[in-house]
Amino acid sequence: MRQHRLALCEVHFVEWVEKMTFSFTKKHRMFEPDDRILVAVSGGKDSLSLWRILLNLGFEADGLYMDLGVEAGCGYSKRSGDYVEKFAQNIFPEVKLHVLNVADVYGKTVPEMAGRRKGGRKKFCSVCGLVKRHEMNRIARELGYTVIATGHNLDDEAAVLFGNVLHWEAEYLVRQSPVLPADGAGLVKRAKPLARFYERETAAYAIVCNIDYMMEECPFSAGATSLRLKEVLNSMENDSPGTKMQFYFDFLRAKEKSLFPGYTRPELRPCEKCGQATGASALCAFCRLLEPAQQSSKS
Ligand code: AMP
Ligand code: ZN
Repeated sequence: MRQHRLALCEVHFVEWVEKMTFSFTKKHRMFEPDDRILVAVSGGKDSLSLWRILLNLGFEADGLYMDLGVEAGCGYSKRSGDYVEKFAQNIFPEVKLHVLNVADVYGKTVPEMAGRRKGGRKKFCSVCGLVKRHEMNRIARELGYTVIATGHNLDDEAAVLFGNVLHWEAEYLVRQSPVLPADGAGLVKRAKPLARFYERETAAYAIVCNIDYMMEECPFSAGATSLRLKEVLNSMENDSPGTKMQFYFDFLRAKEKSLFPGYTRPELRPCEKCGQATGASALCAFCRLLEPAQQSSKS
């Protein structure tokens, strides 16, 4: 690992990843001893590794897989779900896995929800992210989980940061963090325990631990801005190992020193329809997304 000037054998690499995850969760106060953790597992290397690491570290952590209905001729969601179910059954049969099928609950798959919006496919990733965040929060609240853990890695976080800096999105920048606290209005605490690891490192962990994971990217992500931002960061990283890490950790340090002091999170209130926390005045973004789709499906 050129970025850390460190070379480890398989056994010590696995120990290193787990130890570093533990200290990162402590540093950012992600979990309290009586927390009930819900790990959002997509079937990819990051979230399956995360689930394994948290259980190995002794945390109580159940899984949630959301079937978003992405078929695109290759059965993407169905196959991703198979990886999650196989992992849960074979590795941790005593741990609970919740499976949510979005179309069963809302009558529409995520591509159908996204297709009805202006901009069509281009908007797919933002609609998908919105649906996932809403549903993770809803399920966690309904089932009494106190923290949601996601598998975002350093490459994901650095790319989001890069995008936000390019547009000086101060409101997003003040909120970007490895841990987002619960909000009295019904937002469940969210944690990203792998945010300190390069994607290469989470992939290496999954491979060394024989985790069978979905390697394909979502077919809708081709051409996504986040992938282009990752390419730019990777080319800088190649020239200067440690660039991504420095970019992200220097940002977290700058935030501790009150970067953008004038910005605070807007006050949240319950959505009039679903009751989940929103900064909007009536309906949350998720309910607004569903409204026109339901109206036009009636006509
Ligand atoms: P992505 O939004 O695809 O970059 O994934 C980021 C994180 O969100 C993953 O590491 C998972 O923790 C979670 N996630 C993504 N897709 C799903 C899904 N279909 N079901 C459950 N969790 C997911
Ligand atoms: Zn709502």
